[in-house]
Amino acid sequence: MNNIEFDKRHIWHPYTSSINPLPCYEVVHAEGTKITLADGSVVVDGMSSWWAAIHGYNHPKLNEAAKAQLDNFSHIMFGGLTHEPAIVLCKKLIALTPSGLNRVFLADSGSVAVEVAIKMALQYWACQGRTEKNRLLAPRNGYHGDTFAAMSVCDPINGMHSLFKNSLIEHFFAPAPQTRYGQKWNPDDVAPLQELLEANHHSIAALILEPVVQGAGGMRLYHPEYVKTCRQLCDQYDVLLICDEIATGFGRTGKLFACDHVQVSPDIMCLGKAITGGYMSLAATLCSDTVAQGVCEGSPGVFMHGPTFMGNPLACAVANASIDLLLSRNWQQEVNDIYQQLTQELASLQKHPAVADIRTLGAIGVVEMKQAVDVAKIQRVFIENGAWIRPFGKLIYVMPPFTASKQDITVLTQAIKAGIEATFSPS
Ligand SMILES: *Cc1c(COP(=O)(O)O)cnc(C)c1O
Repeated sequence: MNNIEFDKRHIWHPYTSSINPLPCYEVVHAEGTKITLADGSVVVDGMSSWWAAIHGYNHPKLNEAAKAQLDNFSHIMFGGLTHEPAIVLCKKLIALTPSGLNRVFLADSGSVAVEVAIKMALQYWACQGRTEKNRLLAPRNGYHGDTFAAMSVCDPINGMHSLFKNSLIEHFFAPAPQTRYGQKWNPDDVAPLQELLEANHHSIAALILEPVVQGAGGMRLYHPEYVKTCRQLCDQYDVLLICDEIATGFGRTGKLFACDHVQVSPDIMCLGKAITGGYMSLAATLCSDTVAQGVCEGSPGVFMHGPTFMGNPLACAVANASIDLLLSRNWQQEVNDIYQQLTQELASLQKHPAVADIRTLGAIGVVEMKQAVDVAKIQRVFIENGAWIRPFGKLIYVMPPFTASKQDITVLTQAIKAGIEATFSPS
């Protein structure tokens, strides 16, 4: 049995059938913005391994940081012990994130960071004697991860609510924000969310949202004023604001954090994905002093969470190197150049009869089709055209490493055009 055969028969992949899986391509090397496949073909990375590999692959600075830490110690329990890589990282996160986020919980993946955020919000209100505040509010079309509490605040339609109906807590959902990024702000956009708060704030612990960019729940780019108004409403109705910046953090939207588009400070913020430059799994949940104090008042007096690999030194060391590398480069210029080029080169697709919408922001380009994409078929065409792009549903989208060259971006946009021509040509 060759590798691909074994893989197909025995190994789960994300969101894939065990009976009739999508084709998988074997990677033998990755360097910079290029991925080498087992058949020798080299493709330009359009996905940054799902928002994460912002500096490209096999970066000498990140390799060096990992190797140095490996030769010292790769892991040590965080219960009762601490270490410089974690301390340095938390100092950086506190300094870089919106003001007031002074307490850091290091988690081991994005979904866990969301679980921690939700647990903090619930424990906060419970410790204030407000146990009735035990529900969450989220806009539709959100995505917050695949574990149970995270799943319960994902979009109820395109998430997995119907499948797990009897195992998920029912939360409140507001309509997704409608005012697009760059459009004139329409304050009525938040009216339904305000109505939900007005009617239910006594039972709502927190509002959770992905600021400005809704990722896996639809790749929607919306007006930052929505986030700002949510902040005001949360204050007004005594509800905590959780901003999930796992996808948007570390420059992807053109600002270091999406909250920076409107200077919003959430009560709790989740980070992940690009935090290690895509090297390994690490995430963080930051919160305000008020939340941290509130959580630990009364009984049990401690925050009840502690992953085995919490604060993993290897991951922290790479995260430190990745953040330093990001800040040492003119990343705003890089992201803006990618934005300009994606906007320009994707524009001609607007008039394609199979295309519903084109949208771009920061280093993100989205082509929404009118019909679902045949992933296996279109991916073949992408690879023939030298690009690694992984569509889902009706969405073909790219979020390349910030280090992508002009040529790389052109390969990606040409591949998208070729893929659409080959799989959506009018019959
Ligand atoms: C990917 C993602 C998560 C989940 O992170 P994992 O590391 O995959 O568990 C949560 N929220 C958002 C916004 C994400 O994009």
